[in-house]
This record gives sequence, structure tokens and C-alpha cells, in this order.
Amino acid sequence: MPQIKISPDRCKGCELCVQACPQQILGMSRKINKKGYFYAEVVEQPRCIGCRLCCIACPDVAIEMKVHGTMYHYFAY
Ligand code: SF4
Ligand code: SF4
Repeated sequence: MPQIKISPDRCKGCELCVQACPQQILGMSRKINKKGYFYAEVVEQPRCIGCRLCCIACPDVAIEMKVHGTMYHYFAY
């Protein structure tokens, strides 16, 4: 099962990942991070299909994905 990890302190609360997720399993936290933004979080991890659109959409490279033990990093371009 794919695992998504969002680094709260890298997030700037732009919600691009929330919009990008076809499963609509990402949402915004009610807590704020060190930068003062509401940050994204995974709401329903078991429904993730591993499409990686959230990782690609994030301009701040705040989202990491692990599939079968392999960590994928996506960089802004
Ligand atoms: S990998 Fe795809 S389904 Fe999973 S959280 Fe990211 S956008 Fe949503
Ligand atoms: S796309 Fe990245 S910076 Fe924007 S809300 Fe999602 S995790 Fe945060």
C-alpha cells in the first residue's frame, strides 16, 4: 500500500495537492505550522492509489511517497 508523508513545516498551505488528488483523501489541518500556515494532511490513507499527483503538484516538495519500501522524492521543476 502506498504511504504518503507530508512535512508540515515545509507546507505553505496552497492546497494544490488537495485539488490534485483524484481520491480526495487530502485535506487541510486545523493546526498551523512553524510558518503560520494551515498545512495539508492525509485524511484517508488507505484509499490512496499511489498516483503521485500530490507529490508532483506540490511546489515546495513537502510530500514524500513510499511504495513497497521504496521512497520517492519529487522535486519542483
Ligand atoms: S498519491 Fe494520488 S491518491 Fe494518493 S494522496 Fe497523492 S494524489 Fe491522492
Ligand atoms: S501542495 Fe505542498 S505546499 Fe501546497 S498545501 Fe499541499 S503540501 Fe502544502
